[in-house]
Amino acid sequence: MTLQAGRNYREEASKGLDNDCLQKSLKKLQNNFGKGAMEYWASMTDSGLRDRAKNTRMETLANLDVVLSTLAENVEKAGGHVYFAKTAEDAVNYCLRVAAKNDVETVVKSKSMTSAEIGLDAALKGSDIEVLETDLGEYIIQLAEDQASHTIAPCIHLNRSQIGRLFEEKLAVALHRRYPPNLPDCQKSTLRHKMLDADMGITGCNIACAETGRISLVSNEGNIRMVTTMPRVHVALMGLERVAATMEDHQGLLQLLTQGAALQKLSTYVSFAGGKRLAGDPDGPEEFHLVVIDNGRSKILGDNAFREVLACIRCGACLNICPVYGRIGGHAYLSPYSGPVGAVVSPLLFGINQYADLCKGESLCGACLDICPVKIDLPRMLLELRYKLAYGDRKWQTRKHDRGEALVFKLWRISIAAGPLYRLALRCGYWMQRPLFGRKSLLSILPGPAKRWCADRDMPSLAGEPFSRRWKKRHGKGRTQHGVKDG
Ligand code: SF4
Repeated sequence: MTLQAGRNYREEASKGLDNDCLQKSLKKLQNNFGKGAMEYWASMTDSGLRDRAKNTRMETLANLDVVLSTLAENVEKAGGHVYFAKTAEDAVNYCLRVAAKNDVETVVKSKSMTSAEIGLDAALKGSDIEVLETDLGEYIIQLAEDQASHTIAPCIHLNRSQIGRLFEEKLAVALHRRYPPNLPDCQKSTLRHKMLDADMGITGCNIACAETGRISLVSNEGNIRMVTTMPRVHVALMGLERVAATMEDHQGLLQLLTQGAALQKLSTYVSFAGGKRLAGDPDGPEEFHLVVIDNGRSKILGDNAFREVLACIRCGACLNICPVYGRIGGHAYLSPYSGPVGAVVSPLLFGINQYADLCKGESLCGACLDICPVKIDLPRMLLELRYKLAYGDRKWQTRKHDRGEALVFKLWRISIAAGPLYRLALRCGYWMQRPLFGRKSLLSILPGPAKRWCADRDMPSLAGEPFSRRWKKRHGKGRTQHGVKDG
């Protein structure tokens, strides 16, 4: 399940650039959270924590089969059920079967990107089940029939007065146009009785712990605690990589997650769930189901070039520093996973050719690597993806993305290798461009297929005298700046 239908990266990116409200919000987000996280890492007392966390993540991934079977064993010991779903369809069908078996009419959900990835909401609604998001941001997105645009702040593209108008229209509450009162209170008064009456709660999973058989969920609103304890049935969805082997590993990751996401030492609520309510427990579900979703992840796991991306703990910090995300926003990524991490994960999960624009759109500045709490080298993986797009790759069913571009570079490589031919071509190009462009140094318009190059940038015109000749004139024939003989 992806969000591509009828939309494309360029159009969505242009819309983002033209959206003043989004631009203001992104600027604020990056100034506060992006810069804030970098300062946080720089002043950390335990400077080795990030490296240790990266190592434990990679070690867990190397032993994932053992870690997942320990997790399943411990969840089942506590009376829970574990289902390993190979595909998105498997996962959705399992949830529908659990819902049918328990006569579920209403589902309350907490934020889950995995649920968006597999298209669960649409399937539940298709089975006449009412679905309600309980996270404030996701609730706003649901009311607006919109899509999330940030990992942690899903409705960052809407401002306070737009949300106020939405509440007025959909919830029939009278709000002051410019200064709506406490929006969370409006949401809570509408949702509380639904939470109390819901038959099933669906959550994601921030990090599961194999040693304890518990999953942890962080929130600042308290909604997750209600979703996991009030309904009769709790279904938790997790990508198969979201697990720590031991409680000690888990604790370090949780700390980095909340610091990377919101500069918090710990979020306001941390809920641990797993297993069913036991005799004497004041609350909790009668049934607990953990759905462990593969949906392409084991293929990523099996490729050493990309395995590292599964170490991601979805903190969203890389979005808060990325200069590309910071201008175009999250909708352009056409996936629940946006920003630099989305530019790597979405092509791997949903098709490299289909998501080629994402791989090519990032700037490779390296800021995402610097800010990532577990130091994931996203720029390296973006280059790996671009290599596959340039040369094709059978294993990933990737074909050459742009044959015309590949041909141009091939010809350029051949001609540059044959020195005199290259110099002759440059000389001819210089004289041929003159009637069209005069002596301008930057060209904003190019004819024919080259037009696309100038859609977003200028093209430097060919110089009258090549650099190599000017260099020789200045420094003497056969010598470099450092006096070493030129080959
Ligand atoms: S890649 Fe790193 S910074 Fe980005 S969401 Fe994942 S863990 Fe956070």
